[in-house]
Amino acid sequence: MAQDFAAAFYKSKAWREFRAAYFARVLLCERCGRPGKILHHKILLTPENIVNPLITLNPENVELLCKDCHEAEHHAHFDADGHPVPENYWRG
Ligand SMILES: [Zn+2]
Ligand SMILES: [Zn+2]
Repeated sequence: MAQDFAAAFYKSKAWREFRAAYFARVLLCERCGRPGKILHHKILLTPENIVNPLITLNPENVELLCKDCHEAEHHAHFDADGHPVPENYWRG
């Protein structure tokens, strides 16, 4: 298993506060208008950018999605070898 590089980030106070503030402002899935569930990072988090708040905590780099739209989004992501992106990315 790949190490869960994002675990500490998703537990951090900075992320939880950022996420709560975004949810409170947006509420609905930005693609289909159903209740939003997941704050998705448009630029996917990687071990390299996880320490960069301009990626991780930037309102321009996140999108509130419902579960269906989030799954659809991640099914669209494959790595250079054509494999789906690691499970880590599913969390945001
Ligand atoms: Zn949706
Ligand atoms: Zn996502």
